Amino acid sequence: MAEEMQYSIRESFRARHVNLRISVQRGLEIVVPRGFDRARIPRILEGRREWIRKSLAEISRQARSGGGAALDALPERIEMPALGESWRVEYEPSPSARAVLRQAGPDTLRLSGAVASKDVCRALLLRWLRARAGKEFGAMLAGLARETGLSFGRLSIRCQSSRWGSCSMRCDISLNLKMLFLTPPQVRQIMIHELCHTRHHNHSRAFWGLVSSLDAGDSAIRAEIRASWRTIPAWICR
Ligand SMILES: [Zn+2]
Repeated sequence: MAEEMQYSIRESFRARHVNLRISVQRGLEIVVPRGFDRARIPRILEGRREWIRKSLAEISRQARSGGGAALDALPERIEMPALGESWRVEYEPSPSARAVLRQAGPDTLRLSGAVASKDVCRALLLRWLRARAGKEFGAMLAGLARETGLSFGRLSIRCQSSRWGSCSMRCDISLNLKMLFLTPPQVRQIMIHELCHTRHHNHSRAFWGLVSSLDAGDSAIRAEIRASWRTIPAWICR
């Protein structure tokens, strides 16, 4: 049995013993100390075969149902650095045809009812995030508009995969709800960037001049913003 098994071997400087790991992403992985005699591996696998069989079965069940360790598992907590908030998310299945999301406490969200469908839960959470972003970003953008003397039309919240914000010819601004997962300085820089577009609908020198006169041109923050796509929770992006 052991000879037929699919696995990968990884040598680790830090490993002192042989370690078996099973994950959705990598299947069965055997971590061995450096210089370990690999001829011993089949016997080790033979000794753990029951555990391996059960774990692999569980992993494939999870991968099929899309739950558990899958990359887009629903969140148990939603951290929003932009607002300095951290919400616990509870899932409470109950016999009902539909699922409902409500605030169950000052920092607790509760999904109840038909919560077995991940797509339904995800849609409810995204709707909640969108409303949260609309309210909080609306207030922040209005504050920055007053502070900078720039004015905008309407604000809309979107969930795009490659842009943080945009400004239309009519000076309507759209912001990405994923900005909830950025830091306040990063959010401020994006908002001022879009507000500056209400005066210059391009990336001309005059535009960048206005951006830096408003203290929103910090290139380190800009680099952080570019890199931060990777840090958005996987369940939102998928
Ligand atoms: Zn721009």
